[in-house]
Amino acid sequence: MEEIFDVIVVGGGAAGLTAGIYSSRARLSTLILNEGAIGGQMVLTDEIANYPGVEKTHGYQLANTMKKQAKEFGCKIKSNLKIKDYGLEGDIKRITLEDGREFRSRSVILAPGGRPRPLNLPGEEQFKGSGISYCATCDGEFFSGKEVIVVGGGNSALEEAVALTTHAEKVTIVHQFDHFQAFKHAVEQAESNQKIQFILESELRSFQGNGVLQEVSMEHLPSGKTTTMNIDGVFIFAGYIPNTSDLEGIIQLNERKEILVDQEMKTSLPGVFAAGDCIQKRYRQVTTAVADGTIASLSAAEYLRH
Ligand SMILES: Cc1cc2nc3c(=O)[nH]c(=O)nc-3n(C[C@H](O)[C@H](O)[C@H](O)COP(=O)(O)OP(=O)(O)OC[C@H]3O[C@@H](n4cnc5c(N)ncnc54)[C@H](O)[C@@H]3O)c2cc1C
Repeated sequence: MEEIFDVIVVGGGAAGLTAGIYSSRARLSTLILNEGAIGGQMVLTDEIANYPGVEKTHGYQLANTMKKQAKEFGCKIKSNLKIKDYGLEGDIKRITLEDGREFRSRSVILAPGGRPRPLNLPGEEQFKGSGISYCATCDGEFFSGKEVIVVGGGNSALEEAVALTTHAEKVTIVHQFDHFQAFKHAVEQAESNQKIQFILESELRSFQGNGVLQEVSMEHLPSGKTTTMNIDGVFIFAGYIPNTSDLEGIIQLNERKEILVDQEMKTSLPGVFAAGDCIQKRYRQVTTAVADGTIASLSAAEYLRH
């Protein structure tokens, strides 16, 4: 007879791994099912300098440590899979994979996180991977000595722009407003970097090239004037989309497709909890994902006790 787990965690990013650490440490049989690479967005992050108690580190290192911790407590982790179907009602929850395997549990913690939001501009799909990237850590080194644009004005955009100067000769930050939404220290770091230039109150309009990206069109918003600029690469940091499309109609989501939870990370279904970037909240950081994962795990344990 197949094992019925106490907890199945969907997603192996910061929130899911933390839920895995707490649940398995509480001696609850725990399985993490993860679609992509373990670590989620942490592995897309060049440097994490704001995780308390850990000196400046690479995102993948922090992810690996969390994974090791979870495994040491006995948490099982299965990666590179695709969930086909959720049966989340009733006392025994069922999750079926596309390859036909089915896993059962008494509680579920949903932590599927999010993914970068595309700009949905002409040429974007065509040059994805051939000049357009959403991850400086993954693709920065392909642009050694080259000129790149970073799109966005939040923390991720400014921090990743600074990280990109390790490789690129010149980084131009293109932002739609005349001010940034990032923390002051991130703005100061970018502004004091000799390799970074700024084009404000402007938006990209299209991407052009011959096989690879060569040029972008850009509109200066106050004047409406459109110009073109030769460029080797564009890195887009324009927000995120929650990975919840396969949960629509199963649990309650808001209009932005974020999972609705209460303070204990309970979703609209008994025994189903959610944590991390996928839930309705304002601030998305590793620390907040970790905190959500902790709460979701403790709430699942409480639910299982009753
Ligand atoms: C470029 C960038 C830089 C950042 N820099 C920082 C920083 O310096 N400091 C900081 O604190 N935060 C930073 N963040 C934010 C931080 O990385 C995230 O808030 C945090 O990692 C979110 O964790 P999560 O576990 O909720 O989601 P995610 O990291 O998105 O993990 C979700 C996991 O679930 C998997 N998954 C998705 N759908 C499914 C499914 N249907 N079934 C199974 N698995 C699924 C995904 O493959 C992924 O592994 C940055 C983010 C980005 C993109």
